[in-house]
Amino acid sequence: MYTNDFEYYCAESTDEAIELLTNHDGAELIAGSHGLLPRMRTGEEEPPVLVDINALDELSLIERADGELSIGALATHAEISASEMIREDAPALSDAASEVGDVQVRNGGTIGGNLAHGDARTDHPAAVLALGGSLSVHGPDGERLINADDLFEGHFETAISDHEIVTELRIPIDENTTSTYLKRRNPVSGYPLVGVAVWLQTDSDSIENARIAATGSLSHPTRLHSVEDELNDTTIDEETVATAADRAAESFDETDFRSDMRASPAYCSHLLSVYTERALRTVLD
Ligand SMILES: Cc1cc2nc3c(=O)[nH]c(=O)nc-3n(C[C@H](O)[C@H](O)[C@H](O)COP(=O)(O)OP(=O)(O)OC[C@H]3O[C@@H](n4cnc5c(N)ncnc54)[C@H](O)[C@@H]3O)c2cc1C
Repeated sequence: MYTNDFEYYCAESTDEAIELLTNHDGAELIAGSHGLLPRMRTGEEEPPVLVDINALDELSLIERADGELSIGALATHAEISASEMIREDAPALSDAASEVGDVQVRNGGTIGGNLAHGDARTDHPAAVLALGGSLSVHGPDGERLINADDLFEGHFETAISDHEIVTELRIPIDENTTSTYLKRRNPVSGYPLVGVAVWLQTDSDSIENARIAATGSLSHPTRLHSVEDELNDTTIDEETVATAADRAAESFDETDFRSDMRASPAYCSHLLSVYTERALRTVLD
């Protein structure tokens, strides 16, 4: 299908992008275009104005600063996957980026676009939640930080307002931590049927702090607090892992799970427990 007609602007600064968003009702930013364009072609989204931000080179930087990883909104999935720094400090994000769709999508799609779009069936949100990340966003009233825990509000619904632009993802670098992300791929699209990210802070044979998050199978990406509660301040052993994984689906009822031709709520619930256990075992290994 063809897209609706739209006006096109290419922003040369973050301020100009914000001004264009503010002055044009319904305007949308466009970065990698792999999230928005497919939905424009099906008529699910019909923005009258597109504001291209690809000329904002400063939004592509990946660096360490003040105990945090700073990843520019325009960093692509391929750049994130190839970054040694991210592999070292935030392995779950590296895993998620490496698992996205196919080469074409990984080369074009950006982290900012992925998180801002709020598609509940994408990979990165689980990793960003588990890693305790936050987004720096700029709008007409200046800059604010949105914690990942407050970001995802529903399928294609986020806490980012219409006139704001995400400039960077920040991830704290903590000592004695490790993380991973595992997914069950939809064999047709590559999107996750379920994806689970695990972040653990350990002290020899005990877990001091755990953050576990899921994407794909639920109405929106979310932390698995019941699993975390089971793991916090425990000794690492087989029984703890199995008991914690069993609790993965516990806080949700049938209506919280996706239900479509690819997966029933019961299957999603089952996958959530299985992948929570696998991700925990992977990270503890
Ligand atoms: C065939 C295919 C397979 C895919 N498979 C997967 C997969 O397996 N896993 C996965 O996670 N994803 C998958 N994706 C989605 C992919 O990750 C998208 O690229 C990503 O979700 C959107 O990033 P983008 O840069 O392309 O954003 P765009 O499409 O350019 O924008 C998406 C939305 O975000 C907004 N936006 C973009 N940048 C910003 C910003 N800096 N600040 C504020 N708002 C912004 C736009 O206005 C728009 O509403 C797939 C996509 C395709 C087409």
